[in-house]
Amino acid sequence: MKLLIVGGVAGGASAATRARRLSESSNIILFERGPDISYANCGLPYFLSGTISQREKLLVSSKEAFKARFNIDVRILTRIDKIDRQKRCVVATDLTSGVSYEETFDRLLLSPGAEPFKPNLPGIDGKQIYTLRTLDDIDRIKLAAMSGIKSATIVGGGFIGLELLENLIQLGLNADVVEHKAQLLPPFDPEMTTPIGEALASNGVRLHLNDSVEEFFDAKGRIGLRLKSGNELATELVILGVGVKPESKLAVEAGLEVGLRGGIKVNKQLQTSDSEIYAVGDAIEVEDFVTGSPSHIPLAGPANRQGRIAANNIFGRNETYRGTQGTAILGIFNKTIATTGASEKALKRVNYKYRKVYVHPLDHAGYYPGAEQMTLKILFDEISGKLLGAQAVGGAGVDKRIDILSIAIQGGLSVYDLEQSELCYAPQFGSAKDPINMAGFVAGGLLRGDHPQISVESYLAVTTEDKPMLLDVRTEKEFAQGSIPGATNIPLDDLRSRLGELPRETPITVYCQVGQRGYFATRILLQNGFQVNNISGGYKSYLLWRSHI
Ligand code: FAD
Repeated sequence: MKLLIVGGVAGGASAATRARRLSESSNIILFERGPDISYANCGLPYFLSGTISQREKLLVSSKEAFKARFNIDVRILTRIDKIDRQKRCVVATDLTSGVSYEETFDRLLLSPGAEPFKPNLPGIDGKQIYTLRTLDDIDRIKLAAMSGIKSATIVGGGFIGLELLENLIQLGLNADVVEHKAQLLPPFDPEMTTPIGEALASNGVRLHLNDSVEEFFDAKGRIGLRLKSGNELATELVILGVGVKPESKLAVEAGLEVGLRGGIKVNKQLQTSDSEIYAVGDAIEVEDFVTGSPSHIPLAGPANRQGRIAANNIFGRNETYRGTQGTAILGIFNKTIATTGASEKALKRVNYKYRKVYVHPLDHAGYYPGAEQMTLKILFDEISGKLLGAQAVGGAGVDKRIDILSIAIQGGLSVYDLEQSELCYAPQFGSAKDPINMAGFVAGGLLRGDHPQISVESYLAVTTEDKPMLLDVRTEKEFAQGSIPGATNIPLDDLRSRLGELPRETPITVYCQVGQRGYFATRILLQNGFQVNNISGGYKSYLLWRSHI
């Protein structure tokens, strides 16, 4: 078997080494147009500030190591220009000599990745305007950032843009972020990103949400950015992080099918429309694990796993790719935000009948030093309780909870399974009722009808004349420090003795700080014949939502 692989980083390198483990006798050739294979693109932003100080640490492997350990013929600085499906060969160009040649294949695997999107704007090709994909890119950005400049602007508030932002701030630069959506981090629901926006502001970052660049121009030696809002910025370095698009040109020109977003179409075995040509990674269209919709989800984990699965299939094993859940995480300014499965926005888009709850637990027992609060939101089927998605923001412990929920989603588990989950516990690691259990208890209680709930944005959307009475059951001191407009305060511990002050004919909405005392109040009121629901996640959820309504 002669296997050719195009692209020598995440998906391509994984496929090549897996292929060798399955077949000692095959001829495996890996083509990479760049100078490096198997480098850590996820680590690039951290090289900028020196958090990762040695460049060579980003080079996970090399051409020589692939030859010595895996007997793989790696051809760096070699670009594949054409796939000739009739002749079963590719046309390769050695970029050093300029010589082109043909190489035949029995099987071909494409892992060419995705390239940074560059909008067609006046001035976009200016000298100090960068995108980030490769080691060479970060070398150039680092040189510019350390040339004595004082300011930088990130265009695009996604994962890569924000990671770069943190590293620029660490270098002592002033920074602006321009994001055309009304929120940062578009894969998340807007309210979950509020703490990230606050962290940016408290680190001196000027955030321009709901705004976009219309033009770059020369501003007396600096780069001017004219924004849609009419505002103008002047900066010394611009980094574009406005998304990526699949590198599917080779595939398109070879007549392979691509999807609406340009990703190469593959079946569950990762075969393209030509069954002897496989494709993996950022270049392909995947099926969203939860909604089943075709999606483009460029992440390292899926690319690596797909590379392995494709190699398995090439060598006769019949393995299927389950789809991509979009499990992703960002750490910035001591905050962590993570997601898995469907967002609420995505469920709305496909008209899925879901419910959601918010909890705001500590990552470990409150009496043990260093506990940090997180917000955890779970989305689930309104009838079966099957988990559909989860997002969390906070500090410590966010990664662990989203990883647990990722597996729960993959295993088809429900909120009732979260109630029963047995997780490791000692005070420094968790709580006897872990945040996962708490989310399950609240969601299970909601579905059983024990605990009617309303989301804060649904409550706020009710027109004034129909609005239920809003009852704040926190202490008088907490109430004085801030409350949802229109609320009446009766502290939980006084509630039983003050039931006479509440309406029996019309509904009541209660809330507390995080939802728990509101739940206790809901149970008291329900059992005393009142119509009541509780705001999920309480005042804390209101604070998250306030700027997005
Ligand atoms: P790539 O890794 O991009 O590799 C494709 C390779 O193919 C490239 O080296 C390219 O030069 C080569 N190639 C393309 N066309 C040709 C051709 N015609 N001939 C020869 N060679 C060709 N993901 C995460 O999950 N977590 C993270 O924290 C994270 N951080 C990231 C940070 C940065 C700065 C970047 C850029 C990406 C990050 N990602 C992260 C995304 C992750 O790196 C990608 O999802 C993953 O690398 C995709 O793997 P791939 O094999 O599809 O493509």
